[in-house]
Order: sequence, then structure tokens, then C-alpha cells
Amino acid sequence: MANRREFLKTTALASAAIALQSFQQNSAEEDNRFDDKPIKKPIVLATWQFGMQANQAAWEILKKNGRALDAVEAGVKIPEGDPSERSVGYGGRPDREGRVTLDACIMDEFSNIGSVACLEYIKHPISVARMVMEKTPHVMLVGEGALQFALQQGFKKEILLVEESEKEWKEWLKTNKYSPKANIENHDTIGMIAMDSDGNLSGACTTSGMAFKMHGRVGDSPIIGAGLYVDNEIGAATATGHGEEVIRISGSHLVVELMRQGLSPQKACKEAVMRIVKLTKNRNKELKDIQVGFIALNKKGEHGSYCVQGGFNYALHDTSGNRLIDADYYLKDE
Ligand code: ASP
Repeated sequence: MANRREFLKTTALASAAIALQSFQQNSAEEDNRFDDKPIKKPIVLATWQFGMQANQAAWEILKKNGRALDAVEAGVKIPEGDPSERSVGYGGRPDREGRVTLDACIMDEFSNIGSVACLEYIKHPISVARMVMEKTPHVMLVGEGALQFALQQGFKKEILLVEESEKEWKEWLKTNKYSPKANIENHDTIGMIAMDSDGNLSGACTTSGMAFKMHGRVGDSPIIGAGLYVDNEIGAATATGHGEEVIRISGSHLVVELMRQGLSPQKACKEAVMRIVKLTKNRNKELKDIQVGFIALNKKGEHGSYCVQGGFNYALHDTSGNRLIDADYYLKDE
């Protein structure tokens, strides 16, 4: 008995010592994270080429000291409303039944969240997601329920399938072969993360998802923690690419948690991609058929990105202007 008591005492002391050590380490990392370098703000990042135009709209708000939440909503509404952007909102490619179903989510500096999935007939799912966040006791509405809510809120019911997308779908029906390929233009999401001049972070993510997906399929984009995550003390991250792979690792949340542990946005994105690489190999799947890209921003205004294979880029707008940056990637020699 005495021995057992002794053992418990020693173990308790050892655990306390380890806890103290890890607290000291964390504090050291924290000091490092929040050093005296001037914070570059406001700043906004968005996935893919269409992020350039989206950033312009977001910047109009950020430059007037507007809120990051308003900026990201306004930003992603640009590709959502553009019928020539065939992977987001109006004009998005349909599922295998010819139905355009949209996914979107939004998150603010207070960790308020809102999301819609498999929403039809509404041009701006991001604004419906924001209303879910602000006007309901819930965080996510899907399908019929999401549409019903949107209509109650005064959104207009519109046909979202454009001629070009319908033509492609009919062409696809001839073979009926569903094999989503990386980087070909049949999917792409706009994920946008921003820090406003008050230093607050928000993010938005919206997509029509994989073209010709099964009806009812939901990807990562409307899932908080997968397609998007914001922690106002640490940073924000968003994802694009094969949603199934992003969900598998809770991608955007993972990136933010890695930044919490002291990794730079760039290293955090790389680490998350490496997790996907490892799991793909473990599951004996072909990595060359997979594309996932992350972008991230921390509280110091530092940013980064990483993806599985070449071809992914993101737009960055800060006080030095708007530009497109190619993401570094894993599969260099394939
Ligand atoms: N992540 C989106 C989805 O899986 C598609 C994409 O970003 O390419 O629905």
C-alpha cells in the first residue's frame, strides 16, 4: 500500500513537472508567435485565379476599415454571381441528375458559424449561410430546408444551370463515367480568409462542388473545420480540391491547430498536405489523382499555402496590392 502511495506521489510529481515544462514551451512559442514585428493588415487571401476579382471586392470593404466578415462575404459573392465561373454559385456545373447544388460556409472572429449544403436555386449560398449564422439557433441547413429558409429570408429562386454547363453535363451523360481528376476545371472552390484593420479574422468558402457528383453529395466546403476554420487568437485556413480528402483529416482545423503549436502558415499547410499524402498511400490510393490545396493566414498577417500537386494558386491582397501566388506542392516529379 505504502509502495502504491509512493508510486502515485512520484507519478503526480513527474506529471506536474512535464505539465510545467510544456506550459513553458508553449509560452515560449507564444512569445515567438506574437513578437514585435508590425502586423500587415488589412489582408485578404482567396483560392485560385478568380480570387483576384474576389479580393478586389473584399478590399473595397477592408480599405475603409470594414469588418473582415463583410469583406469575405462580398468577396466570394463575385464568383458566385458570375455565370462564366463554372465551379461556384450561378453557372456551377450540375450533379449527375442535372441539378446545381451548392455548398457554403462562413465563420467570424467570435467563432460564429453558418453553413448550407446541397442548396438549389439560390445564387448566393454564402449569404444564406450568413443568415443561418445570424438568424437561427443552428449552424447548418441542408437541401429542402435550406431552400425553404432562404426563400423565407427573401432570397429569389432562380435557375442556376447555364447553357454551357448543361451542354457539358449532357456530354458527360454519354459516358456516365465519374472519375474526378485533379486540376481539370470541373471543380474548384473559392475559399477566402481575411484580417481587417482591427486585426480580426473571418473566412468564407463556397462551391458547386465536384461536377457530376452523386445527388446529395456534400464536400468539405460547407463543413466548418474541413473547408474553413477561423480562430481569432491564432489564424484562419481554407481548402480546395477533393473534399473527401479534406474531410478525412479535418483539414482547415488541422492547419489552424498546427499554427497554434507555432508552425508558420506555410509549414502548417504543408504538414496538413503531408497528412493527406500519408493517408492516401496507407489506403493504397493513387496520389496523382488527388489534388488538395490549403491557404492560411496567421495573426501576424503571415500567409502560406501548399498543395498535393502543381497548378494551384491563390490571390493575395494587402497594402502592397493584389497578386497571384503559385502554391508550392508535393508531387514535384510526377
Ligand atoms: N472542395 C470542393 C468539393 O469537394 C471542390 C473543389 O474545391 O475543387 O466539393
